[in-house]
Amino acid sequence: MTSEDNGQRVGVRIRTHPSVCNGWGQCHRWAPEVYLLDDEGYIDVHVVDVPAEHAEAAELGAAACPERAITVIRPPA
Ligand code: SF4
Repeated sequence: MTSEDNGQRVGVRIRTHPSVCNGWGQCHRWAPEVYLLDDEGYIDVHVVDVPAEHAEAAELGAAACPERAITVIRPPA
């Protein structure tokens, strides 16, 4: 699933759940500019407003998280 509005890519908001992060780093591999990790490899952001140009990578990173520790909030259609 992608974040598009009438064919135009739009930004998304990411909310992470650090309490369930196990430090797999998959999110960062897909979108290093969105998912910052701490020195031990755990997610180090809580809420991020992601610009349109990084929205697809952010969604791929969220989908790749084995712990389902990332929620993608899309703008209303
Ligand atoms: S992929 Fe998920 S478990 Fe791994 S670092 Fe990112 S948020 Fe944490």
